[in-house]
Amino acid sequence: MELIQRFIYLFIFTLVGSNMLGGCSSAPEQVTEKEAVLNVYTHRHYPVDKEIFAEFTKKTNIQVNVLFADASQIVKRLEVSGEESPADVVLTVDAHGMYEAKKKQLLQSIESETLNKNIPETFRDKEGYWYGLTYRGRIIVYNEERVQRQQLSTYQALTTPEWEDKVLIRSSKNVYNQALMASFVALYGREKAAEWARGIVDNMARTPKGNDREQIKSLAQGIADVAIVNTYYIGLLAESKDSLERASVKNLGVFFPNQDEEGAHINMSMAGVTKYAPHKENAIKFIEFLSTKSIQEKFAQANFEYPVNPESEWHPLLKSWGKFKTQKLSIDDLAELNEVALQIFQEVNWK
Ligand code: FE
Repeated sequence: MELIQRFIYLFIFTLVGSNMLGGCSSAPEQVTEKEAVLNVYTHRHYPVDKEIFAEFTKKTNIQVNVLFADASQIVKRLEVSGEESPADVVLTVDAHGMYEAKKKQLLQSIESETLNKNIPETFRDKEGYWYGLTYRGRIIVYNEERVQRQQLSTYQALTTPEWEDKVLIRSSKNVYNQALMASFVALYGREKAAEWARGIVDNMARTPKGNDREQIKSLAQGIADVAIVNTYYIGLLAESKDSLERASVKNLGVFFPNQDEEGAHINMSMAGVTKYAPHKENAIKFIEFLSTKSIQEKFAQANFEYPVNPESEWHPLLKSWGKFKTQKLSIDDLAELNEVALQIFQEVNWK
């Protein structure tokens, strides 16, 4: 699956990228703000994005060129191209990539009353370098045939002997796990965070393999009792067109941990305008468009994510899970602690 995805990325790179990057090798052309074009570099890989971009074009007549890549690759591309980069907007699936882009001075601060109105302060950068679009919980999902809901409480409780060989979670190379670990370092300090990681490694049902979807499917098959995953993957399986996928999550329950404490961990998909954006006005218009009530609804609901705009309705499935308390941590703090998170993973031998 991953191989296919990589191939598709590569294909789109060649298709759109060559077109977009073509201008790079020659002298930078004089681009006027009036040009009805927008170049988006995105790490988001969800089908709904294409529809939303088309809707933006329909509304504004601005043509959207898209280049798909991992955040780390996007940062590298922006660094290498410098002032000649055609990129206007960067979209990421987590904080770390955006933080790196900001730290390396690849973004610019923007001011927009619309964005300040539509996006609560906790979901945007104080200095205007990035804006959150959607968020998702990294939570506990459990096999209802093996676990009573009352047995669950916190992420920490999953490290007790009761859960030996019963926990599924993916590799530490994954950005979602790195952010989760960074959040524990921020909340409880390095030592306690490492203790948690060690406890989870001890209780793993198997050496980490596969993505969040695979943890959920394995859980349903009875390989373990609980898994730690992002909320939207459960939604995507629950409402999949594939009846086998739908059936696979029937016996699973969703649990938001640490509700009597600091809250459940969330990660965020976000947008920023590049430092040398040739179409800055279009870029701002685009992010504003993504923040509006109706687009937020469509955008978030199709992928079972939570909209950052508080006016926007949640998908019925998310509503059925109920509201939940989230960790209150600054994205900058989390991103800064990413390095410590990586060290801990290595120390405890979390593959
Ligand atoms: Fe994802």
